Amino acid sequence: MLEVERTSDEEKLIGMKELGGLKVKVTRDSYLNTSRGVINHRDLRGSREEEFVEWIPGVISARRIEIKRGEERIKTNTYVLTFDSPTPPSEVKAGYLPVKVRPYVPTPMRCFRCHRFGRGRDRCRMKEELCVRCGETGRRGDECKRNPRCVNCKGEHPASSKSCPKYMEEQAILRYRAQNGGTFGQARAAVIVEVAKEVRPKLYAQAVRGGPIRKVTAPVPTPKKSEIAPLALNSATRRTDYSKNKNKSEETRKPQTCGRYGADPEVDLESIDSIWSLPKNSCRAGRRTG
Ligand SMILES: [Zn+2]
Ligand SMILES: [Zn+2]
Ligand SMILES: [Zn+2]
Repeated sequence: MLEVERTSDEEKLIGMKELGGLKVKVTRDSYLNTSRGVINHRDLRGSREEEFVEWIPGVISARRIEIKRGEERIKTNTYVLTFDSPTPPSEVKAGYLPVKVRPYVPTPMRCFRCHRFGRGRDRCRMKEELCVRCGETGRRGDECKRNPRCVNCKGEHPASSKSCPKYMEEQAILRYRAQNGGTFGQARAAVIVEVAKEVRPKLYAQAVRGGPIRKVTAPVPTPKKSEIAPLALNSATRRTDYSKNKNKSEETRKPQTCGRYGADPEVDLESIDSIWSLPKNSCRAGRRTG
């Protein structure tokens, strides 16, 4: 897979017939080069889905959100637009009307047979269905009276719980991908890096203070200004002490506050509480061609 920044580079690549003496065929990856966004405006109540494709450059399809009330299906003035680009624009003009676009974040897909995330029942490799409540075979979730045990995180809740840390992790990854484009694997790696970045300063602060290191799960609140100053002072003092002991061996010169100083923070990635508030990074995804 190749990633390019400009449409003109993409066109050059697609026109390529040979690479290093080998015959090649270059195609545009439709999954990575499309994105979805949500628009909502009361003036769009009377619009038809096809009109968005006609009106807005880069929109390849539109779907109106409908809600069910009893037997009735009610049309809303919210639409999901599919764009011909790795990330959606922040605003579009629906005819004369400027409308804000929010990235469309899909609901995490859970298999109803094994309850793992990321694929549906039709692609499941599990022979027997697991109970959504206790995670065991031969039982049905709606009839099961056993204590709940989630198959994904082993927590005391059914696998369908929206407060499951695995569900929230999956949701954070889908949100990141909706905002930044790229593959699911790239989004997962980026979310884990964001969590580690949030967790690391807190662990460092604890080490300098000499306090015990405990497991920290995201989100970690940003420290107030009044909390930052004394920490900086402490670390400077420690550095002075450090230089006085130049002649000592490497081992004894290390700060003595904690045996785990400098070690990787103990990040419990299995129990990410909520990463809803990840900063919206500027889009780094270019057009991908594979
Ligand atoms: Zn499955
Ligand atoms: Zn059960
Ligand atoms: Zn769970």
